[in-house]
Amino acid sequence: METEKVKCLIIGSGPAGYTAAIYAGRANISPVLYEGLQPGGQLTTTTEVENFPGYPEGVDGPKLMEDLRSQAQRFGADIRYGIATASDLSQAPYKITIDEEKIIEAETLIIATGATAKYLGLEDEKKYAGMGVSACATCDGFFYRKKVVAVVGGGDTACEEAIYLAGLASKVYLIVRKSFLRASKIMQERVMNHSKIEVLFEHNATGLFGNNGVEGVHLVKRKGESDEVCYDLAIDGFFLAIGHQPNSEIFKPYLDTDEVGYIKIKGDSPCTKVPGVFAAGDVADPHYRQAITAAGSGCKAAIEAERFLSAKGL
Ligand code: NDP
Repeated sequence: METEKVKCLIIGSGPAGYTAAIYAGRANISPVLYEGLQPGGQLTTTTEVENFPGYPEGVDGPKLMEDLRSQAQRFGADIRYGIATASDLSQAPYKITIDEEKIIEAETLIIATGATAKYLGLEDEKKYAGMGVSACATCDGFFYRKKVVAVVGGGDTACEEAIYLAGLASKVYLIVRKSFLRASKIMQERVMNHSKIEVLFEHNATGLFGNNGVEGVHLVKRKGESDEVCYDLAIDGFFLAIGHQPNSEIFKPYLDTDEVGYIKIKGDSPCTKVPGVFAAGDVADPHYRQAITAAGSGCKAAIEAERFLSAKGL
């Protein structure tokens, strides 16, 4: 297999990856960045981003990512198409296989592979993507002021999103497949006691309808039971909060991850347990999952990579 040696390899092209590339480029450590499965990352699936500092009028998600990419290229980042398909982090230089056809040997590695929101797998989720279906209340909730929305899920994320949305929307339905919430007690209490939130226990969403975006959801109560009921509910927005899956699979044999798969980093730093290997953005962040926090951690990772190389005289 073809091999190539690089000083700094960045995997992933969300805000964390591109920001790492900007800093690494300016630090003159010749970063090579592979964009991965979804060039531009999760933000390319959003329409408008209104909470990224510096854009008082908001900015299109894809445009923001295109700007970050250009900025990284301006400082010499070598940005390539390709997916990391395997890793060997047992010793430096770290070996990353790209598309099962090339091995990059990297002195430092910045993992910025992000996380993927889980969806139910309904055809209608794709049909109405960006037209009423969202997996991020903080990103898109603002568009549903005084409207009716539904959140799917019964964990802490779903409760948090429901409470956030209740501050904007006129009504929030929480669609929970079991007869109880899995969320922490305090979140359960907040949800159950909120005047604008109605919890629909033992409900499954089976489809969406609407001519110009989402206008309602098809629901089944007590699916598969003798008293099963199917009905439609009018809503304007449909939010998924059934968990995220960090894209850390190929690194798991070498790095510590939590039970969900988030890469464990040391305190506030992007350092993993392997020297010279850093993790930035959503792949290592179960808590904030914002573009700006991802960008900040990408910056930290590039600074650490530069210091690591410099200490080794590379
Ligand atoms: P969880 O895995 O905790 O919860 C996922 C929820 O989605 C569950 O209620 C689950 O139902 C439901 N679900 C999963 N798949 C489907 C499906 N196909 N159809 C319908 N419902 C489905 O994920 P979270 O993102 O909520 O939380 C992840 C971790 O992060 C947790 O440990 C949580 O405590 C933590 N967290 C903490 C916060 C805080 O402390 N402030 C905030 C947010 C998250 P079921 O119960 O039936 O499996």
